[in-house]
Amino acid sequence: MSEDFVFPINPFEDVKPSDFNKLNKKHVTEDFVEENFKKLGWEVYKPFSDTGIDRIICKTVCPKGHTKLNETLNGKKCPKCNSTGVEIRRFLQVKTRELKNNIFGFTLKSKDIRIDPRHIYLLYSDNTSKDKQDFFIIPVKEYLKFFIDNDCNNPFAPTSFRKGNNKLNSLRYNPETDEWFWGDVDWDGFRNKNGLKNLQNPSVDLDLDNQIIKTREYADALQREFSKGRSYSEEVEDSINDELKEKLSLYSSPEEILELRKKVEKKLKETCDKITFESMKKYFEFIKTIEAIGEDEVNEEEIKEEINKLEDED
Ligand SMILES: [Zn+2]
Repeated sequence: MSEDFVFPINPFEDVKPSDFNKLNKKHVTEDFVEENFKKLGWEVYKPFSDTGIDRIICKTVCPKGHTKLNETLNGKKCPKCNSTGVEIRRFLQVKTRELKNNIFGFTLKSKDIRIDPRHIYLLYSDNTSKDKQDFFIIPVKEYLKFFIDNDCNNPFAPTSFRKGNNKLNSLRYNPETDEWFWGDVDWDGFRNKNGLKNLQNPSVDLDLDNQIIKTREYADALQREFSKGRSYSEEVEDSINDELKEKLSLYSSPEEILELRKKVEKKLKETCDKITFESMKKYFEFIKTIEAIGEDEVNEEEIKEEINKLEDED
């Protein structure tokens, strides 16, 4: 890397990021991320709470990639090729973890998948070593592609009703070589300045419509695959996947999905008694609300209480 600056830095000289407790950690680390991007010429915005996005960052760069990582064009033309700058925008979802036995304990669930390729997972290892922090900057599309390209267990595949006990690989640090791996695959391309360089590439903004379609394809490929776990044979897995493919192809357009939903609702209405039907509708509305406000932000006990209340009403 030619650019001469340190990234990430600790912007709060008198505090150590690893010192924080569970309650204020989320805010402190998001501020930490924010200061790091501001320093490199990004404008940083704080979106509404509980949208799954922790910071929105914007910067104007040369469309041909001439703008350095610690520069911004800011209304001026590119000094190298005289191109007018393009504003690029990224949506950061920050996940902070402390290393435990050199493992960064992190898994994304299906609900974390976004199909806007400007959505970025920023994994922050706040205590890689005593005085060292690491950022992993991974656009959603690259993250999904990683599991398609590599023979790591697909974390998004529905398993056999959680019976499978699938062992997933995870992100692991090797302190002797100062390298990070997911399974056997090197994650250096996402780390610190490498991740930053990838993040600032304007090609995703210049080709947004196609990039969204591509991201959707990757997400579908990973989510519409059954994983056998340890309880089933490969033959069972294959036959379920064949069946899935065939059935899903019948519902490939939004119109067909809406039609299917209507049919299901009609069928349920005919076969269930009125109380069961109403209770079911309430339940799904409640689940939708939890999804919208973000599971992380809701107290687990409160959810259980609400569900019990719904069940008692029957
Ligand atoms: Zn240029």
